[in-house]
Amino acid sequence: MDSKFDLVVIGAGPGGYTAAIKAADLGMNVAVIEKDNVGGTCLNRGCIPTKTLIHSTELLNELKNCENIGINVDRVTFDIKKIHERKDEVVGRLRLGIEGLFKSRGISLFRGTAKILSANRIEIWQETENIEINTDKILIATGSKPIRPLIPGIDLKGVITSDELLEMNETLPKSLTIIGGGVIGVEFATIYNALGCEVTIIEAMDRILPTMDKEISQNLTMILKKRGIIINTSARVEKIVKEETLSIQYNHKEKDCTVNAQVVLVAIGRKANIDSLFAENFSVEMQKNAIVVNNKFETSVKGIYAVGDVIAGGIQLAHAASAQGINAVLMMNGKKPQFDLNMVPSCIYTSPEISSVGITQEEAKGSEVNVKCGKFSTLSNGRSMISSQERGFVKTVFDHDSKVLLGAQMMCANATDMISEFTTAIINKLTYENLSAVIRPHPTYNENISEAIENSFGVSIHTISKK
Ligand code: NAD
Repeated sequence: MDSKFDLVVIGAGPGGYTAAIKAADLGMNVAVIEKDNVGGTCLNRGCIPTKTLIHSTELLNELKNCENIGINVDRVTFDIKKIHERKDEVVGRLRLGIEGLFKSRGISLFRGTAKILSANRIEIWQETENIEINTDKILIATGSKPIRPLIPGIDLKGVITSDELLEMNETLPKSLTIIGGGVIGVEFATIYNALGCEVTIIEAMDRILPTMDKEISQNLTMILKKRGIIINTSARVEKIVKEETLSIQYNHKEKDCTVNAQVVLVAIGRKANIDSLFAENFSVEMQKNAIVVNNKFETSVKGIYAVGDVIAGGIQLAHAASAQGINAVLMMNGKKPQFDLNMVPSCIYTSPEISSVGITQEEAKGSEVNVKCGKFSTLSNGRSMISSQERGFVKTVFDHDSKVLLGAQMMCANATDMISEFTTAIINKLTYENLSAVIRPHPTYNENISEAIENSFGVSIHTISKK
């Protein structure tokens, strides 16, 4: 078989599949090569399965605590196998959706592993045969995989990454120690704690979620500890030893400590998937084993592009990959990019949810920007009270003189949905006046946004006056 395409996309994750669809819509003859299921990490081993599990465990927590809202449930139990079956069903339906979108646009899907032979030729290793295809352009969107640190005992049975934990469909560990208190660490801690598992987090930095607003880390630490999760910060794992269970030995402020667990989840970050991607004697420029691209997402080889987790210095988020993929395809067709990639919101699906966009007050302190900040505690918001929410807040960061919004951070119900209002405002340089002119319906979580904005330059209606 010798086919010729305008664009071959390697990898059908959020970066690759959206780019392929956009390219087909722009009239390109497109092929996608995927060695696994379509949807990438996000759909198969990341965002979608974890958020489906979080949906189940949040419901479980609500049912366990619904007596105080007048609902009596005799005995709340759960079936771990069914929880995972539902997760797999959601994933399966979304996969079929992507395949349907490809079919409807005439995108050729090759199932196999791609090896780039040159700027215009790709070999595909399939189950029974190897084929080669020709193309004008190549877009690499092969994503990333979990990093396994070089700690003695890292290869022991039971020391796993999020990929394997999501496949533990039938058994629930009694105890789980998580190495890394980043996004994956805290999301899995929330899930397994709600399922009754003893959870310990070991984080090397002095706080969990070290890249987030400090107050978010402090509040989340308090909430997770209250739920019984043990959090050890400034702690470095030195080795893991197999005893009756797994013994995780770590150093905490010069002291040697140990915690035992049935399962150890390693969640210390992810690295680019570039293994065997290029033929011998052919490659593109790399930095720390990730692909270097220019502002058009083109690599050092003309006609070869890359987006998503595989690129050097990029933000490893599904929505960032999708936006990069669409921008890359638009620019390779001589069009203007659609997305402002300087303003990527981050979302963490703990309970309560966390989201952030733009700069924080702390970041402003370290720069020359003079800011005015606002904060509102969601405890006094009607909608939050109605749904028995835990403590939370919305914070806003405005430029002091121009009153243009520069950043916002939220830790409250629906924070991941509400962040887009702030992203829209920052991209369009909206000011305090523009944002405070908006009527936000009552009763909604959105009213927390109005109050935080108002508190930046004055006192909001639902804040106790200090006069
Ligand atoms: P991360 O970078 O978010 O967190 C890793 C954490 O591990 C850091 O806090 C780091 O200080 C700590 N760490 C590193 N080495 C350590 C060691 N030896 N001992 C103890 N702690 C150590 O990485 P992640 O949580 O693995 O997530 C990977 C990527 O996936 C991230 O880029 C994340 O943004 C993305 N992701 C996003 C979402 C979401 O958007 N909701 C969900 C999951 C993953």
